[in-house]
Amino acid sequence: MATHQTRMLIIGSGPAGLTAAIYGARAGMKPIVVQGLQPGGQLTITTDVENYPGFRDVIQGPWLMEEMQAQAEHVGTRMIWDTIVDLDLSGSPFRAIADSGDIYEGETLVIATGAQAKWLGVPGEQELAGKGVSACATCDGFFYRGKKVVVIGGGNTAVEEALYLTNHSPDVTVIHRRDSFRAERILQDRLFAHPSISTAWNKAVKSFVGDPASGGLTAVEVVDTLTGEVSLIETDGAFVAIGHAPATGLFKGKLELDDSGYIIVEPGTPKTSIPGVFACGDVMDHTYRQAVTAAGTGCMAALDAERFVAERDFARKREAASA
Ligand code: FAD
Ligand code: NAP
Repeated sequence: MATHQTRMLIIGSGPAGLTAAIYGARAGMKPIVVQGLQPGGQLTITTDVENYPGFRDVIQGPWLMEEMQAQAEHVGTRMIWDTIVDLDLSGSPFRAIADSGDIYEGETLVIATGAQAKWLGVPGEQELAGKGVSACATCDGFFYRGKKVVVIGGGNTAVEEALYLTNHSPDVTVIHRRDSFRAERILQDRLFAHPSISTAWNKAVKSFVGDPASGGLTAVEVVDTLTGEVSLIETDGAFVAIGHAPATGLFKGKLELDDSGYIIVEPGTPKTSIPGVFACGDVMDHTYRQAVTAAGTGCMAALDAERFVAERDFARKREAASA
């Protein structure tokens, strides 16, 4: 067990955490990034990214995150593969206890823990997870080569997952509880134009059907949200793509969270309810939730953390001089 000290402790290694690290390292804060179970964050489970500025051609999410990590390390960030399991935010230095038993102490703390996939919570879902039910098409789509699959949801993730799955499957059905998507228009246009994709509107999933011990998922049981009629949609694979929940379990009772669990920040800033603790990216943003906005707020968190330390050091010096 070791104790590591830094001027800027960053929890999370998605676009928010890594951008905070780049700015923090260049400002001499000697940041430590604790990466968590998903080094690189959510973009590591997607393929094409075509809205992150600076790249004329489509880039791959995992590649972008590798580059961001390499840039953060190049300017002096220490990257640690560990997960924070407990925190003491009673005062600076803030203490974070990791799964390995190591302790991380930060004069400032930048929280960039992002978000995690949501599940439907219906019968059969967890029993058949990994046996036909998945929350990641790019991870598991390959297993459904030539087979029939469904995607549940109506946002950008669901539409992108459906489009991605056509690389493997000739028959993709998107099941949505309403009769219109909330995904961006350009993605919807691609989906509607694709010959391998069909839609099942106004259908809510009631259960996942199949035997986990033999063969796995065989069908999705749905209820029509207008008529109440129950029916089965036969399928080999089901991809749940209904959004993500902020990863804020660690902060309950320690920081102010909103009703949905997002960290509350002072409007227009990354400042949390505790001075010296900053939040950036999807963990504090339920509106935009994009890689570029996560990176932007990561930059803001690092600049404010640097100012926090500078102002504190200046106050200490002035106090010492007048003593
Ligand atoms: P995340 O990327 O969620 O990273 C969170 C980090 O926190 C992870 O590294 C995780 O390991 C770490 N962590 C969590 N808990 C702990 C802990 N206890 N201890 C230590 N570390 C911890 N946005 C776009 O702009 N363009 C796209 O094309 C696009 N495509 C997407 C495709 C998919 C399938 C998904 C799911 C999202 C997509 N997004 C896209 C959204 C984008 O990925 C997110 O907005 C962005 O990744 C948020 O960055 P973040 O740094 O806030 O958090
Ligand atoms: P989202 O935008 O919150 O959409 C979630 C979808 O799932 C909605 O259509 C919702 O239905 C449906 N849903 C939620 N709970 C459900 C339930 N219990 N049962 C059935 N359906 C349910 O989530 P997301 O698509 O994951 O996107 C999250 C963020 O990441 C967004 O800001 C998005 O822009 C971003 N993102 C961007 C890209 C990109 O830019 N290319 C790609 C992926 C994600 P309703 O519509 O009825 O509410």
